[in-house]
Amino acid sequence: MSATNPPHIVLLVSPGAGAGHLRPVAELARRLAADHGFTATIVTYTNHSSPTQYSSVLSSLPPSITTTALPEVPTDDLPNHARIETRLITVVRRTLPHLRDLLRSLSDARAGVAAFLADVFCPSALEVAAELGIPRYVVFTSNLMALASFLYLPEQDRTTTCEYRDLPEAVLFPGCVPLRGADLTDAIQDRANPAYPHMVDLGRQYLLADAFIVNTLDGMEHDAISAFQELSDNGVYPPVYPVGPIARQRSDEDAQHGCLRWLDGHAAGSVLYVCFGSGGALSVEQTLELAAGLEASGQRFLWVVRFPSDKDCSAGYLGSPADNQNHGEDPLSYLPEGFVERTSRTGLAVPLWAPQVEILNHPSVGGFLSHCGWNSTLESAAAGVPMVAWPLFAEQRMNAVMLQERTGMALRPKAREGDGVVPREEVAAAVKELMTGEKGETARLKAREMRDAVAVPLAPDGPARRALEAVASKWKSRDGTGE
Ligand code: UDP
Repeated sequence: MSATNPPHIVLLVSPGAGAGHLRPVAELARRLAADHGFTATIVTYTNHSSPTQYSSVLSSLPPSITTTALPEVPTDDLPNHARIETRLITVVRRTLPHLRDLLRSLSDARAGVAAFLADVFCPSALEVAAELGIPRYVVFTSNLMALASFLYLPEQDRTTTCEYRDLPEAVLFPGCVPLRGADLTDAIQDRANPAYPHMVDLGRQYLLADAFIVNTLDGMEHDAISAFQELSDNGVYPPVYPVGPIARQRSDEDAQHGCLRWLDGHAAGSVLYVCFGSGGALSVEQTLELAAGLEASGQRFLWVVRFPSDKDCSAGYLGSPADNQNHGEDPLSYLPEGFVERTSRTGLAVPLWAPQVEILNHPSVGGFLSHCGWNSTLESAAAGVPMVAWPLFAEQRMNAVMLQERTGMALRPKAREGDGVVPREEVAAAVKELMTGEKGETARLKAREMRDAVAVPLAPDGPARRALEAVASKWKSRDGTGE
């Protein structure tokens, strides 16, 4: 690295994943540039990123952060029904030669590469960085419990034979809330699926990292952070840097959205915000049941309505087998006949996308029915808004257990045995309880406590800043391994 150039880092964002991965990676780069003088290259995947969700994030980056997309690789040999994880991991692996070229040319440039950071689905890229002698890190955009679930998977694979949902005992990750096997990520729930060995491989590949930079904080995962500190001191795992919450910047453009003016007209704490993240999809039947339940609850609501999918609850993500982002229909046409008109005084249905952080921080919002994506969870906690936890896929069931049983800031409706649909009566009861009931009041108090806990790490000398300072000073040293 040249003494006259600012140190440069390269951050690789998982393909296919929506704003939930790009935003925290971009925000981390922004913090490293603003507070520690780094320049950065953010690397994405061509045709595996959502143009609308990506462009607003990427266009707001400062000039010290550049972006580049790796060339497209063919995946048409994968079967149509291949799981999204298989697709994403295949794209990452097939693109490695292009990544190698890119990293080599950046290493040869005057600034060099002080560190390479790979997002959740990209740990196979750590090997390329290792070959080139570049310090390598995992930037884990979810929490430590989810990272633990990956790290322990190779051992679980070796020591158990049944499907995880049939495990008789609770699954215990260090310092984490006990989980049922069925709460683990859906990508590992079928050992015969080709996605399964890919997931086991991820668990091994993470160990190539010099350290894990995790979007978590003491207020949410105190015991897990302490447990991993001990494991790292004993040389079991690389160190963890808890740099969360990596909060999203508010934007002027978002602040202009019409739904915020609609919220202005309602009483404080009276509106339930409903959103399933950047790619979550409900089935057609579940969409109808949710609509009927919201209507029956009599509560005010603001619902971001995405296209339903009967095939895949992650259908909104690019690269998903049932990827449905590009048909020109109106998602509101899937709502029950007359729903929008009947609820026009109490509810607003917004197609596809709304400015979530601004909504959660609007005084009229008193609850969040969420798929429990980790960014949504942190954003709700930061705003002190209690939740109805409605997990769909990935690590969201684990997050829901943490929210309900450890932080206490969420209520959880019961799905029907068999088809897993949450019926309208259950929706109405959960929503009413959150907004007006005693359990809702308790969740609200817990959410307020969380709001204070989430503010601590970002204080001028707070733990998130100190953790980032510690890792940044390693990268600034000549060999990237210490001061
Ligand atoms: N988001 C938003 N508006 C929407 C849907 C999502 O602003 O209509 C943002 C949300 O604030 C969060 C991210 O997209 O920052 C979603 O990330 P999360 O981890 O919650 O879920 P994912 O999209 O990865 O499933």
